[in-house]
Amino acid sequence: MPERIRPTVARVDLGALKSNYRAIVDHLARERPAGTPGVIAVVKANAYGHGAVQIARALEDAGADLLACADIEEGAVLRAAGVRAEILVFGALSVSDLDGLFDGRLTPTISSPGAARAVQAAAARYKARLRYHLKIDTGMNRLGFRFDNLGRTLPELLRSGNLELDAVFTHFATADDPESPLFDEQRRRFEQALAAVEALGARPRYRHAANSAALLRDPRVWFDRVRPGLLLYGIVPPPLAPTIELTPVMTLMSRVVAVKGMRALETTGYGARFTAKRATTIAIVPAGYADGLDLRLAGRGAVLIRGRRAPIVGSVCMDMLIADVTGMDASPGDEVVLIGRQGGDCIDAREMADTIGSIPWEIVCRVGGRIERVYAGA
Ligand SMILES: *Cc1c(COP(=O)(O)O)cnc(C)c1O
Repeated sequence: MPERIRPTVARVDLGALKSNYRAIVDHLARERPAGTPGVIAVVKANAYGHGAVQIARALEDAGADLLACADIEEGAVLRAAGVRAEILVFGALSVSDLDGLFDGRLTPTISSPGAARAVQAAAARYKARLRYHLKIDTGMNRLGFRFDNLGRTLPELLRSGNLELDAVFTHFATADDPESPLFDEQRRRFEQALAAVEALGARPRYRHAANSAALLRDPRVWFDRVRPGLLLYGIVPPPLAPTIELTPVMTLMSRVVAVKGMRALETTGYGARFTAKRATTIAIVPAGYADGLDLRLAGRGAVLIRGRRAPIVGSVCMDMLIADVTGMDASPGDEVVLIGRQGGDCIDAREMADTIGSIPWEIVCRVGGRIERVYAGA
């Protein structure tokens, strides 16, 4: 029996993913031929909604040797699927079952003295020597050892007999805001922290700081590795300009399931928010907020049908939305593109985010679990 799948699917182009990975690697090599930084390929949150296992495998194929997840559980899923690359866990570990680090051969981030003690104790129990990345808080004020009192907080961690400092990193709060002075401030604080770590006698193998926006913006923060997430998926963090040639990896598409006419002054959808000003043709598309489409798209966004923009009208419902296809000759079965290219037009995640006052990271992460991911270009 052929597997049944819904008409609404997310097509994931693994060929585009690999070419994005290579474009980033080439860009780094071109801009810095001596001491080219490596890449940490970020596949957290189900690879930004694209499917962690397939994405991780394709990145390994493309040459990635270090992947990053949000937590131990995500890392375990990749290991269970046979991913062999090193896997860094970004998140705090204080409420996690640390056995997963050893079962999955994962590399933890240590971001507090409490976590340091817990991981040291677990490593001692396993009679293991565990490499870790040290996270420094340079101004995000979220996770990490504060940059300005490492002399007090680090010595105990550095003495831990079962832990080995592999890398030191920080994370920028405003890399995508060219106006913010905090970005440069965080770079200086990180450099100060690196000097403090050295002064304590530690010799990490490498240092990293740059997410996608920082990678695009400032080679001074590339250090020894960069950590792109969004760029891998072919999306440039707004408002930055694309300076690397990338292709969007995900296309979200569906099919028209019904077309009907409305008379002038009739309304459609919950709340009767759209009133037809004249005779109007609408198409029903079987994708709604349960699939991750935002309510605010109604009255603001559009979908592509027959190569043209059909405004989303009325309301985004749980399982469907309504598009105005007046004059477009649409019929049931027509392909609908919600995110992606059709004909000469394109609605990308960045545009959809802008339409609803969100960010492209959220747009791809929220693509619903019931939407089948269909992979091509493996
Ligand atoms: C998510 C994340 C990244 C990747 O961010 P993008 O903006 O998607 O490139 C990098 N570093 C850390 C610590 C992260 O949590």
